[in-house]
Amino acid sequence: MTTFEDLANPGVASLPIYEPGRPIEEVARELGIADVASIDKLASNENELGPSPLAIAAMHESAAQMHRYPDGGCYYLRAGLARHLGIGTDQLLAGNGSNELLELLGHAFLRPGRSIVMAEHAFVVYRLVAMAAGAEIRAVPMRAFTHDLDAMLAAIDERTAVVFIGNPNNPTGTVVPPAGLARFMERVPGHVIVVFDEAYIELLPPEEQPDTLRYVREGRLAIVLRTFSKTYGLAGLRIGYGAAPTACIRLLDRVRQPFNVNAMAQAAALAALDDDAHVQRTRTLVSEGLAYLAGACQDAGFGYVPAVANFMLIEVGQGRQAFEALQRQGVIVRPMDGYGLGSYVRVTVGTRAQNERLMRALRAWREGCAA
Ligand SMILES: *Cc1c(COP(=O)(O)O)cnc(C)c1O
Repeated sequence: MTTFEDLANPGVASLPIYEPGRPIEEVARELGIADVASIDKLASNENELGPSPLAIAAMHESAAQMHRYPDGGCYYLRAGLARHLGIGTDQLLAGNGSNELLELLGHAFLRPGRSIVMAEHAFVVYRLVAMAAGAEIRAVPMRAFTHDLDAMLAAIDERTAVVFIGNPNNPTGTVVPPAGLARFMERVPGHVIVVFDEAYIELLPPEEQPDTLRYVREGRLAIVLRTFSKTYGLAGLRIGYGAAPTACIRLLDRVRQPFNVNAMAQAAALAALDDDAHVQRTRTLVSEGLAYLAGACQDAGFGYVPAVANFMLIEVGQGRQAFEALQRQGVIVRPMDGYGLGSYVRVTVGTRAQNERLMRALRAWREGCAA
């Protein structure tokens, strides 16, 4: 008999299943931890300060209107983003998380016979989207955990449709130097779409944020992806956006669902965009947390990758083991074997108390190993 697998599109049956963190309620139940609130989840690069208070107020206000379909064109949100970014509303598309935009890019531009170029240790969704479309993946080794843009240029050929640049990159937390990025854009062949995945860009001080939107304004084959999930603390609502030349937006608009972004997310995102104070508090939390974690790793003799986003790779030797031991202590981090970084765990920057607890748990685990 024919099976579902027989009928699946090429590339789909062999796709790995994205392994999300488990609900913390489940982890608590399994470990016999009575108080779920005592668990610190530092695994998904969420904002430990929570959503912007302005966004929470907007969510409350919109709740009574949830019998209505959302505005399928995200009119007010795109207008707000256009003002905020200094580009046109017709150069913007909102998505159900920036992950949806990655998927739309796959639908619009990838197919068998085409390839993507990405860094070896970059966001796994680039791979998944390419595999689902049957496109070839060219994963380029990194230099000091940073995109090697020259090597990525060299990996491009006439079949390459898209190059993905995570900046800052997940899971390494590194940025590419602005000069290197400019040189890359001068030299990249004219048939290649460059996707800048800037999920963490707002965490950088404004003067350190690369001006990739200029490539959109110039009408280059460039797409900038951003999200409300990280800095803005709205991961649960699923909302992100893409900025690209109008011709690109028109194509992506055709492959999306008519109501891809829910109404509460649109209201909350628009409110969050104006909450500079919350963004500033978040930047401070993250930069102080990174400094603490770096110092604590040095003191304890753990290697780490210097990071600029709200997470950091810590070298623990046996990442999967450390993950499991920490979980038993009620601290959830992300093992990195799926990213080919089995000796690391990725930890999200939390509050001071959370960061301290994490480092205590790591030290305790290592002492347990030595004993
Ligand atoms: C978190 C993340 C995203 C997207 O998140 P959404 O919640 O789908 O908006 C995209 N790229 C990278 C590198 C990320 O870390």
